[in-house]
Amino acid sequence: MLITLANKPFLRFERTKQDLSSDLRVLLCSLHTVRCQLVCLVSSLAPSLFGNFALARMQRQEAAVEDVVVVGAGLATALGLYRKGVRSLVLESSPSLRTEGFAFTAWKNAFRALDALGVGDKIREQHLQVQALRVISSATGEVAQELDVTVQGNRSGPNEIRCVRRDSLLQALEEELPRGTIRYSTKIVSMEEDGDIKILHLADGSILRAKVLIGCDGINSVVAKWLGLAEPSYSGRMAARGLAHFPDGHGMEPNFLQFIGRGFRSGMRSCNNTDVYWFFTWAPSESDKGVVESGAKLKQFVLTNLAALKVPPKVLSVIERSEASDVFAVPLRFRPPLSLVTASISKGGVCVAGDALHPMTPELGQGGCAALEDSVVLARCLGEGARGGGTESRRIEEGLQEYARIRRWRSVELVATAYVVGFIQQSNNAVVGFFRDKFLSGFLARRLLKMADYDCGTLWSC
Ligand SMILES: Cc1cc2nc3c(=O)[nH]c(=O)nc-3n(C[C@H](O)[C@H](O)[C@H](O)COP(=O)(O)OP(=O)(O)OC[C@H]3O[C@@H](n4cnc5c(N)ncnc54)[C@H](O)[C@@H]3O)c2cc1C
Repeated sequence: MLITLANKPFLRFERTKQDLSSDLRVLLCSLHTVRCQLVCLVSSLAPSLFGNFALARMQRQEAAVEDVVVVGAGLATALGLYRKGVRSLVLESSPSLRTEGFAFTAWKNAFRALDALGVGDKIREQHLQVQALRVISSATGEVAQELDVTVQGNRSGPNEIRCVRRDSLLQALEEELPRGTIRYSTKIVSMEEDGDIKILHLADGSILRAKVLIGCDGINSVVAKWLGLAEPSYSGRMAARGLAHFPDGHGMEPNFLQFIGRGFRSGMRSCNNTDVYWFFTWAPSESDKGVVESGAKLKQFVLTNLAALKVPPKVLSVIERSEASDVFAVPLRFRPPLSLVTASISKGGVCVAGDALHPMTPELGQGGCAALEDSVVLARCLGEGARGGGTESRRIEEGLQEYARIRRWRSVELVATAYVVGFIQQSNNAVVGFFRDKFLSGFLARRLLKMADYDCGTLWSC
């Protein structure tokens, strides 16, 4: 169709719809340029002319709107979304991928999630399958419980446990993401809402706007605070972790070794043929305040404590072998499980996952595994919500509400069970110790396998 714009002969011209839309684009671009120039002008004159308030308002309106922003290295979440056709931007405060903690025990539930994300086999190739779960009383030196985990223990197939290096996992996830997905050295300091849009204030003073905001920012999550989740509580225990490297092979069997009782819990597992990961958790007293000051002091503290007990010399030699720079400690914290029963896990287009949602003490070895479960469920719910009916913000909200519904009770159960298992395993009380070593250790070991027997499903509903 032709549109007549004027009828004077020298001005008369006929234009197509395409011409008109291209003119409109040019006009909008010019307006945008003028607006940008205005912002620059205001930036330079702002303090004297309008003050910081007007400047912040204009900057806020200028920032581009991202569809989905993931705060923290939530690479599994970003990958799940990418597989569902949803692009996201990951903002990570560290200058590179963080590998604090060296390694973690990945159970069957984690491998189900990794398979759903399409990286399970890559991780399997690099890590040994644990053969047995052996719980040893450090008071007597006796094996309190031994489970062959290669045996099919339940209806849902064989167990799978591997001690996975955190750097290998993060690398495998990063490799699958499109370039430019992760923006390093980018820290969120605060956030606010502007209608359906979330405004993120970054540490460098800049602003980002997002339709969906997913907090994968760990135990001190800014997003969890904004959602009003309860502050994590200190368990009264600390954990030291280390990694020993044996370039010529460690020669150890791929077993899950755990030493319990006498006021501490310790464990050791091999990731592959050259790396052995270990941990030691204890309730610090006034006298051992200074031990966390350096890796060397901490290593000596762990060795002294374990040497005084009936722990095999081979275990001590692994700790000896760790570089002091590869030994460090963290306080163990958890979110009170009852607070999660009513917590706002999602609100509008905002939600939390991983430790930002369910920080737990490490006795089940499930914090990281549960974060992987979260990522699959979240990507499924958000990805499928995006295809439903209604307004975009309504679909986002419903997708996140469904995610929160699925993850709430799983989170409560994991945090509460981890706390109780830790209390019993670490207790120095003679009565608790007697029942634990004689009757409860089998139950506790089976509980670990039971908690891992969870299926988060695939990225697709059916
Ligand atoms: C001693 C110990 C042993 C454990 N053992 C196991 C185990 O065997 N198996 C297991 O599954 N789990 C284990 N866990 C738990 C596991 O380590 C955590 O649950 C897991 O690392 C949580 O991952 P996350 O991505 O949610 O948080 P984190 O690993 O804490 O990552 C949060 C990320 O967010 C970034 N970040 C934080 N704030 C901001 C911000 N404001 N802006 C931008 N980026 C930000 C951080 O730099 C970081 O990269 C253990 C934990 C401890 C302490």
